[in-house]
Amino acid sequence: MTADLLKAKIRHVPDFPKPGILFYDITTLLRDPAGLGLALDAMAAPYTDAQVDLVVGMESRGFIFGAALADRLKAGFVPVRKPGKLPSRCLSVSYDLEYGSDSLEIHADAIEAGQRVLIVDDLLATGGTARATIDLVSGLGAEIVACAFLVELTFLKGRARLGTTPVHAVLPYD
Ligand code: 5GP
Repeated sequence: MTADLLKAKIRHVPDFPKPGILFYDITTLLRDPAGLGLALDAMAAPYTDAQVDLVVGMESRGFIFGAALADRLKAGFVPVRKPGKLPSRCLSVSYDLEYGSDSLEIHADAIEAGQRVLIVDDLLATGGTARATIDLVSGLGAEIVACAFLVELTFLKGRARLGTTPVHAVLPYD
């Protein structure tokens, strides 16, 4: 079964980036040619006929999956980045972390109103990153097709923060 095969290629690293956190390391999947192809097939499958104009990927692992998916879906790619990284005029949004807050930015002219956008990241945890990206993309007047992830940590209930936006994750972890 594809999901079990893919899960077997993801390395679990305890106490990273800090004690008590179990990190799902996708670099062990990325370096496997068959695994990478299967992961992209599974992420793209629900959207092959969805007429996606643009894939939006979040820094930095969302760039890897997002750009490859954009190519498969014959769509363009738009990066969402941490503050101060994008060179032209940006729309910015802040979101709460466990301690403090963070911001994400998108170029103000990256999406035209009404364009159909698929939001892509490697992993859905608490949903803060995806929520902020939904806010950025809707702020530019896009129509959001869905959010697509390789991994979802379902026990963190990130989906609940994404409102009515459809969510697809290839590998849920309970
Ligand atoms: P959230 O905002 O949903 O809490 O966290 C998701 C974001 O943090 C994603 O951009 C994802 O890349 C990163 N992230 C959080 N935990 C992990 C993890 O265990 N593994 C990987 N690969 N990324 C993670």
